[in-house]
Amino acid sequence: MSDLPNYFIGAHVSASGGVENAPLNAAKLGANAFALFTKNQRRWDAKPLTKGNITKFRDSCERLGFAPEQILPHDSYLINLGHPEPEALEKSRAAFIDELQRCEQLGLCYLNFHPGSHLRKVDEETCLNTIAESINIALDKTTGVTAVIENTAGQGSNLGCRFEHLAHIIDRVEDKSRVGVCLDTCHTFASGYDLRDRADCEQTFAEFEQVVGFDYLKGMHLNDSKAAFDSRKDRHHSLGMGEIGLEVFRFIMSDDRFRGIPLVLETIDETIWAEEIQMLRGFTDLNW
Ligand SMILES: [Zn+2]
Ligand SMILES: [Zn+2]
Repeated sequence: MSDLPNYFIGAHVSASGGVENAPLNAAKLGANAFALFTKNQRRWDAKPLTKGNITKFRDSCERLGFAPEQILPHDSYLINLGHPEPEALEKSRAAFIDELQRCEQLGLCYLNFHPGSHLRKVDEETCLNTIAESINIALDKTTGVTAVIENTAGQGSNLGCRFEHLAHIIDRVEDKSRVGVCLDTCHTFASGYDLRDRADCEQTFAEFEQVVGFDYLKGMHLNDSKAAFDSRKDRHHSLGMGEIGLEVFRFIMSDDRFRGIPLVLETIDETIWAEEIQMLRGFTDLNW
């Protein structure tokens, strides 16, 4: 027997009708992890969470066995913490602080976000420095929530597609205890890190360990990819149906470095999420 934490496997579930519905939706899938948006991800404005939302969310999570470490909230797609224009940057920073505060209210410990884009107006380094500064400002105004930077497919001018980008940002964040990363398998593969066979997985994660370090890994998005290797296109697919195949998911589910963090499906067919979760559990050597 080991004292290692379990594998936390779930999906990015709907919070429509109120955040309190997300844990219920996750439980229906047989998940022991989940992701959610705490506000509409395609709008700037959001109603504040009510006392009712907050109490019901916290009660459901407790009753259904979802601890904060099993939940990976995701911020709005509109936010660009590396925006090259001051006014737009201010808007993004304010929205990001609001997202962190919503997580605080819900008793959550992570906020997953895409780092940002230079929009071809500034160089990469300038943009990465702006992102780090945005994180510092936001962490300074909040407590208890870790900023979890997601790697990207490198589509358009999105940064975060190289492990070195993630390391550069982390290096400039003042409170290292409240910054982490989330690796998305689809984005990793599409940005040129192969995951197709076991040797590829070993190589890619060894490089991640060397450049960033597993201490910073706070979550994973488990997606296959419709787009080809190194295509820099962000196109998710169901597990085993895309260009990556199943081997990387067998690899993750039998490697202790991926225990104790949310492993979240963002695959395209939600009608098979429960089956995908069962399949992933089957890849572990545990009795579920
Ligand atoms: Zn993702
Ligand atoms: Zn994606």
